[in-house]
Amino acid sequence: MNDFEPTTPLIGLSTSFHNALESRVFSYLESAYTRAVRNAGGAPRYLPLDLQGEKLNEVLEAVDGVLLLGGDDIDPGLYGQPRHTKTKGIKPQRDSLEIEITRYAIRNRKPLLAICRGIQLVNVALGGTLYQHVLTEMSGASQHDHHKDASRHKKRRDLPAHSVDVVPGTLLASIVKTGTINTNSLHHQGLQVVANSLTISGRCHADGLVEAVELKDHPFFLAVQWHPEEMVNFPEMQRIFQALIAACQKKAVTK
Ligand code: MN
Repeated sequence: MNDFEPTTPLIGLSTSFHNALESRVFSYLESAYTRAVRNAGGAPRYLPLDLQGEKLNEVLEAVDGVLLLGGDDIDPGLYGQPRHTKTKGIKPQRDSLEIEITRYAIRNRKPLLAICRGIQLVNVALGGTLYQHVLTEMSGASQHDHHKDASRHKKRRDLPAHSVDVVPGTLLASIVKTGTINTNSLHHQGLQVVANSLTISGRCHADGLVEAVELKDHPFFLAVQWHPEEMVNFPEMQRIFQALIAACQKKAVTK
């Protein structure tokens, strides 16, 4: 390959599924994610949920980076807690696949970006715990779930809901190039105990909830609690995807 020609990195995206009538199972992901990857210069590749073992390794070897997406709640048994009444939609198959993907990305130094459920997943995969319902479990919590509460709090998914203080000197700070960013907020769970190996790179300004973490000593490992793929009109959000793609291109050149 010509090192001077920019490559189009292949980005593996995790998927979810739902069971429809007649026991038919449909895998899906929201097109906002694939659009964000394409706009940043990457080519999306679906990672179906039935991947495992050798086949999973083969597919992960073939992609240049991975994106862990938003979705339903993670099984609290994975971090040693009983299930809260507000914890919904547990899919053990998706949890275990994404934990495998996270471990693979760390072991093989593959660039990884994790969004919403993704930040919770990587935290659990690395030994951290979650608030199963931030609003009632964290003292002083502000509203983070702008999916619902249509009468009082509903916000458009593409507009900011709260601000995040960015920790200077972090990967996130180098991408967004500012000390504060305004983010949407579409989650009811959040990081409680942050895994030892992760560095906190952003917190909600209003209540201090962890909103971004990253792994040092890795080419690119960033996880955010908000949904940058919905905020395509904000340059700092586009830059998050561009940074993932750039890290993949750099790795491809030095392969
Ligand atoms: Mn939030």
